[in-house]
This record gives sequence, C-alpha cells and structure tokens, in this order.
Amino acid sequence: MKLESFVCGQWAAPGRDLIEIASAVSGDVVAQATSGGIDMRKTLDYARGTGGAHLRRLTFHQRADMLKKLGQYLTERKEQLYKLSFQTGATRIDNTIDVDGGIGTLFVYAGKGRRELPNAKFLLDGGVESLSKAGSFAGQHIVTPLHGVAVHINAFNFPCWGMLEKLAPALLAGVPVVTKPATVTSYVAHALARMIAESGILPDGAFQLVVGSTGDLFDHLTCQDVVSFTGSAETSQKLQRHPVIAREAVRFVAERDSLNAAILAPDAAPGTPEFDLFIKEVAKEMTVKAGQKCTAIRRAIAPSAHVDAVIAALRERLAKITIGNPELESVRMGPLVGLDQRRDVLAHLAKLRSEAELVSGDPDRFSVEGADAARGAFVPPLLLHCANPASAVSVHEIEAFGPVCTVMGYDALDDAVTLANRGGGSLVASVYTHDTKIASDLVFGIGSFHGRLVMIDRDCAKEQTGHGSPMPQMVHGGPGRAGGGEELGGIRSLQHYMQRSALQGSPAMLTGITGSWSKGAAIVEKERHPFRYHFEDLDIGQTFMSKERTITLEDIEHFAHFTGDTFYAHMDEEATKGHPFFPGRVAHGYLLLSFAAGLFVDPDPGPVLANYGLDSLRFVKPVQPGEAIKVRLTAKEKSPRNKQYGEVRWDVEITTASGETAATYELLTMNAVRS
Ligand code: NDP
Repeated sequence: MKLESFVCGQWAAPGRDLIEIASAVSGDVVAQATSGGIDMRKTLDYARGTGGAHLRRLTFHQRADMLKKLGQYLTERKEQLYKLSFQTGATRIDNTIDVDGGIGTLFVYAGKGRRELPNAKFLLDGGVESLSKAGSFAGQHIVTPLHGVAVHINAFNFPCWGMLEKLAPALLAGVPVVTKPATVTSYVAHALARMIAESGILPDGAFQLVVGSTGDLFDHLTCQDVVSFTGSAETSQKLQRHPVIAREAVRFVAERDSLNAAILAPDAAPGTPEFDLFIKEVAKEMTVKAGQKCTAIRRAIAPSAHVDAVIAALRERLAKITIGNPELESVRMGPLVGLDQRRDVLAHLAKLRSEAELVSGDPDRFSVEGADAARGAFVPPLLLHCANPASAVSVHEIEAFGPVCTVMGYDALDDAVTLANRGGGSLVASVYTHDTKIASDLVFGIGSFHGRLVMIDRDCAKEQTGHGSPMPQMVHGGPGRAGGGEELGGIRSLQHYMQRSALQGSPAMLTGITGSWSKGAAIVEKERHPFRYHFEDLDIGQTFMSKERTITLEDIEHFAHFTGDTFYAHMDEEATKGHPFFPGRVAHGYLLLSFAAGLFVDPDPGPVLANYGLDSLRFVKPVQPGEAIKVRLTAKEKSPRNKQYGEVRWDVEITTASGETAATYELLTMNAVRS
C-alpha cells in the first residue's frame, strides 16, 4: 500500500523516497509513505481560499450537522479501520478507544454545536458594556473564525481519535484543516482520510491530508493559522522555535510528554473499594494501548505503609495479562507500535532502573501468543518501585512510552502533593479516596499542575470513564511538561480557531453588526403587537410598550396566599424595619414577572408558539404597594431553528412609573415561520 496525500482536492501520488512502515506484530512491511513532493504553499492557500471560504458561509448549526453526518458515515465503515489497526499493535479494546472514541467526538461536537451555539456564523462573548455616560458609545466582544488553516500534527498512538478530536472543533469553528499523521501509523489515518474525502460531506478544501514530512509548510504559516501538535516534547520545542511561529505569533497548541500520577489516599487501605479501584486503574493504564497513551499512569503514588500491598496486588493482576497478536480475542495487550519504540522504551527503562527496582515483568523473559516475539515489538508490563522518590529525578522526568509504571511511597499527604507536582505539569492525575476532605486537600495541592483531575471512589466506580480517557466535554491538556495546551473541553476548544475582538461603537452600530439589539439602539414600533409577526417578519428592535399597572397591597396579599410565598418581606411591615434592601413591604419579584407577562402578552393564537424560558433575570429595585409598573418588550435576537420555527430572544425591562428599572431579563420564545 503506497500512501498518498490528499491535497488541493486530489490524491497526490507519493514521491520517490519511500519509507517502509512495518507491522508492529509481524515486522512485515504494511505500507510505504513518502516525504516531500507536496507544494505546501499551494496546500495552505487551497485550505484558506477554498475550504475556509466554504466553511465560513455555513452557520454553526450547518457545520454541526455536517459533523453528525460524517460521524454516521464513518460508523458504517469502522470495521475497515479496526482491521488495519491490528497491525499497529492495537487490540479490539484499543481500537474502540481510537476509532469509536474519535467518531464519538464528532457526535459530541455535533450535539453541542446544535444545542449550545447560535445558528449564526459568529459568537458574542458577554453582554454589551456601557462605555459612555449618555449611552451613545458601547462595546461588545465578538468572536469570528480565523481566515487561516488549522495544521494538525498527530502522534502515532491514536491515528483516528487524534485526527478526529482535533478536526471536530476546528470545522465547527469554521476553519479548514490540514492533518498530518505520525508516519508509523499513517496507513490507518490514511484509510480514515480516504473515507472522509470519499464521503463528500465536507466542503472542498475543508480537509487535507499530508502523509510524511511537512516539508516547508511552517515557512508559509501566517497569524491566521493554528498549529495543534501532539507528540514528544523534543519535536514540540523544535517546531515552536521555528522563526515563522515567533514572527507571525502563530497559535501553537501543544500536547506532549506527561508523567501522570495516580494517588492512593491514606483512607484507601487494602480491603477498601478505593484500593481495588486504584489497582485496577493502574494495571489498565499500563496495558491498554501497551501503555502508549499520553494520559497513562506513569507514577503510582501510595502511602508508604501500603506500598508492599500495592506491588503485590499489581503483580497478581499484571501476571494475568496475555501478550500477543492483538487480533486474538484472548490477547489483552499487543506489541508497541514498532521496534524503534521498543528500543526507546527499553532505553528509558534502563535509566529508570538506576533509581528504581524492577518488581514485576522481565523484558527478556515473557511469552507471546500468536506472534513471533523476535519479529514483533513486544514488551511485557514492567512495574518499578522507587524507594526514595523525593530525591529521585528520572522517575519524575522520563516518560517511558510503553507499559511502564513506577510505584512510589509517601508519608504525609503534603508529600504526595509534592511528588505528583514533580511531574512538572501533567495531563491528568487520578485520586482514590472516599474522603472529601482528603480529596479537596489534594485537588488544591495539585490542581494548578494538572489539566484534569479524576476522583475515583465506590460511588462512581461503575460509571467513571477512567483515568486515561479524555472526554470531549472536558478539557484535555496540561501545563508545563505536558505542553501548556488545552484541547476539547466542549465549546471551549473553538477559541483556538477564532479571534475575539472588542467591538466598540454606538448601540445602533453594534446592533446593526451583531444582529443583537442593545439598549440605546433605535426601537421599531409597528401598528400591530410584535407577537402577531412570523419569525421572518419580525424586526430586530421591534418593540411593544405596555400600559401601566399599579400594584396594590391586595395584589401582594392575593399572590402570597395563592402561591404560598408568604416570605416576610412581602407580608410583615415590622420585620422589614432596618432591612438593608427593603424600605417596607414589597411586591414579590415573581409577581412583577407575572404582571409583566399580563401587560405585554398578546393572547390570541398566532405565530408565537411557546415561551420556553427566561435568561439573565435581575430584580434591580423593590416595588412597594401603590407604585405602578410598565414593561418594554423588544425583539433582541433571532435564531432560525428549522423549517417550522425559530427562536426569538426578547429584551424585557420592567420600570416603575418614575422610570426607574425594577427588573430586567431576556424572554425566549419559539416563533412560527410564515411559510
Ligand atoms: P514525535 O514528536 O517524534 O512525532 C509527533 C508528530 O510530529 C508526528 O506526526 C511526527 O511525524 C511529527 N514530526 C516529527 N518531526 C517533525 C518536524 N520536524 N516537523 C513536523 N512534524 C514533525 O513523537 P512520536 O510520535 O514519534 O513519539 C515519540 C515520543 O513522544 C514517544 O515515545 C512519547 O514519549 C512521546 N509522545 C507523547 C505523547 C503525549 O501526548 N504525551 C503522544 C505521543 C508521543 P513523523 O511521524 O512523520 O515523524
């Protein structure tokens, strides 16, 4: 299989200098990749000019629908990816994480895009800020997609997940992608890329694949581009030092080496469910993907008194792991990705052994099922014990990217914190305790050194998603050694691909640009009530001004007894004496809301289908019996939903007769489309 790149809308035949890629299991050549031969400037221009232009014409909802369709298309074809992935050493469970996990990310972003983003092409960040006394100048933050390209450089360990977890947020943000898989597993990424290209679901130029070297790609990056990298600290630092990255201030998101910790708390003694969960998780993280996971547990930190029990329990569990050909159902752990990787892992093991004793597993003596141990890149799970972790260095710095983990003991909880933080910034730490006080001491001790903290105990044992699994909804990344980057985290990750600008001008100008009415902009008063207009006929700024209604003591009494809300501030004049907010008995806030609805509603059947909520409700000034209120209802934003209806956000202000604001909120309605 000669791997082609997919650039400028076509599959480019590989160049002359072919690199052979060997199966991790048999050592046989499974594919050939090439470096060079691709015009990187043209590739980037095609992404920016064609892909970016197409994507920016779509709304978030349209892009979300595209991700969902792609997820469905790939789901139907995932068995092909499984089959190829066995050659990388991945077992069926490993493949589920890589293939299904990657496709799952597309679905999560599709759902979040639909639910949490407007059906628009940009975002507003926060509300309107008043910047002037008279209100003629204001500001609002607006977030728009970059006009560049997202260059995704991926690690070898998750050829599918790595590609898709980066792809989903970039496309949802409206930015085209050039993805570069790690060469050693690029045949799997290539197969996935073929499916994506053949699906025809993404617009032209939105997705390109570069197999092999990135050549002079970095020379052509601009301030509108983003590099998102996963791999070694060494490569990351080299790429970050590229003069164009510094000159153009190209955004660089890095995900790299991480010495993740699992901490067994003092309360989790042998015999507790938390002790068993700790053992299970450490063993799992050592063996899933043969430990080649950026999130794998490298350091198992346990109370000194329990270290022997931890080692004994892990030994017993690891002894049951069958190593061999990952296609066999009986096999629990496949080989490393290749012989180079095995060489690296064994070299790192040798360094670790200068500070730690090997207590389980022997790299020179272990059995392999269904494969030739001499030809495949097999190693057994290797457990070390470091007796002096406080003075040791390599156990906190060397990431042996394989089934390798070091157990280390601590005396006081503060020592556990110090050890965990010696990782110099990690992607994840997991904590095993049933004591919330210990958990919170640990969280506040290690939080700033870790991108993710997983609290594992008996209460969540059955459903917890695992130390090593980044969830699309939650942030994945970590400070310091882990790269300082942040991926996923739901809609947060769109920020990497978008620019936030402080937009300043008159309220009318802000409204005209953003399509979101703000106080101070002109209001539109028409003959008929705004509720009589269909979705497409309603103007932004269209307003209804109500009549006044005086609130009486009888109203307050009636409301109190009718609803049961007889809180003293509404009922007892005496009790409000000296009160910091209430000058005497006051109307219920909910009474104001109810009367407001009565004042602004247009009751007859019509285009307004339903009221589905209130946002940003604030009671600003108490209203006393005898005071009159009135309401302004203004169409603030419209967001198309489907062919039947769209959402309308109304700005509502309740004022007293003297013109003081009593309450403000945003009302949400579903309005029918005319046709
Ligand atoms: P590398 O850093 O070597 O490679 C990562 C990616 O960068 C690959 O796609 C690679 O492509 C690419 N790359 C390498 N050099 C350049 C360059 N000069 N310009 C552009 N792209 C480049 O990591 P590996 O995947 O080889 O893994 C090596 C080690 O990194 C592991 O043993 C492990 O310690 C660590 N690692 C850490 C991960 C983490 O997230 N914590 C994940 C994966 C690895 P190519 O394959 O073509 O060289």
